[in-house]
Amino acid sequence: MRIDLITRPPSRLTLPFGPDEPSTTGRRVSVDFKSLSVDESSSDLAQLSALVFAIEGLRRTHPSVDLDGASVRIRGCSVHGGPEIQTTLQAVLEFCIDVSLDFSLGVRRLVPGPTTDAKNTQSNAILLFSGGTDSLSGLALCEQHRIRATSVFVAHGSGTTGLINRLLGESLAGRLTDFCPIHVQRRGDLQQTRGFLYAVLGGIVGRVRNTRDLIVSESGPTMFIPPMTPLDEVTLTTNPVVLALAQRLVRNSLEWNLRIHTPFRDLTKAESIAWIRRDPALIETNSCARPQFASHPHPHCGSCFGCLVRRVSFLVAGARDVAHRSDPLFSRFAWPGDSPDDGHGTVSAEQMADVLAVLSFCREVMLDRVHPAAREQMATYHVEPLFRRFSLDFLTALHLGYQRGGFGRSSVVQRVYEACLKDSLISASIATERMAEVSELKHKPSLDSPLVLAE
Ligand SMILES: [Zn+2]
Repeated sequence: MRIDLITRPPSRLTLPFGPDEPSTTGRRVSVDFKSLSVDESSSDLAQLSALVFAIEGLRRTHPSVDLDGASVRIRGCSVHGGPEIQTTLQAVLEFCIDVSLDFSLGVRRLVPGPTTDAKNTQSNAILLFSGGTDSLSGLALCEQHRIRATSVFVAHGSGTTGLINRLLGESLAGRLTDFCPIHVQRRGDLQQTRGFLYAVLGGIVGRVRNTRDLIVSESGPTMFIPPMTPLDEVTLTTNPVVLALAQRLVRNSLEWNLRIHTPFRDLTKAESIAWIRRDPALIETNSCARPQFASHPHPHCGSCFGCLVRRVSFLVAGARDVAHRSDPLFSRFAWPGDSPDDGHGTVSAEQMADVLAVLSFCREVMLDRVHPAAREQMATYHVEPLFRRFSLDFLTALHLGYQRGGFGRSSVVQRVYEACLKDSLISASIATERMAEVSELKHKPSLDSPLVLAE
């Protein structure tokens, strides 16, 4: 299969994509299934989904290249359903990064051959496994339901591989019985098409392992997160539209009727963590969005959205966590009057701005005053109650830190807490009630129904 991307004049530029192309960041399309053997159609489909990922990488690393209206010529591709595949690839790039490309897909005659691995037809489901707390919740759910799952882990370089080797060698030894690592070219901090790529690769492994069921165990707020401010770029990793496009691509190109399950879609991360609170592997999981520290003994930056939600959720679920590199919700800010040392140093203005954006969003949710775009998105997916609980988790964590004699040291965050207290959005009894609700597992994961997807 050969792929060329040709941009329009005036910046006319032709870029060949492929595993053997020069390794300029974002241009390589390489997928290595390691010991898993896949047929040619699956291999070509993997390349197509990695192409989408590489085009987003190119957009982020080379913003001067005008991709809008560029054409992508793919020749010699051995998958089914040409026109539907072009439409799906276009749709995912439009939805995720707002770029409109013109795909032309030349399909080669398919050579029928065995699709599933005769030696390995034991799986009941594929579980996407990233090494975060949600992955561990998914694994625990499979264990509880006696589901023999194949765990698919997508690695983007030595950092993430280090994390998973640690988990496999220590706390998860013997639990990830059928573990399938797939290596794909490097990624940056935020890549919106990541979930699309992972779900397609999960579907491919499902076909090899002869199961149509793919479990995506992400907790709900990450799937449905609306923009917190009108200009915010939030993660679309497991947004239902993205998962639906991945499902459609696998169905059309491999004629494999993939079903995607999202059992934790109605749970906040605190509720998902409470469910595995006593799992010895919980403390080894990694929630940081920045892969740079992944193989380090202290992998959490502390200030990205993933780390903030983790900090809050462990507190509310009453679970013990490792120390993060920074603690912007509770450490002192460079501000006269803030209490000195708590071992974390000072929080920067940039970190504090991110924290305040999240806290303002939570406050607005509780006051029923979110901006129209966020309101519309939450209404579309019927997730208003979920985001009230998500917001309440943040206010409960603030209560734990900033109630009289608490451990919080930031006068800026304390002011937010006091404003919430004044508006009766949080109080000792509200916080106690919320923590009881979380620890009593009032909200449980459900494997009953697959994700309802728009076709
Ligand atoms: Zn982080």
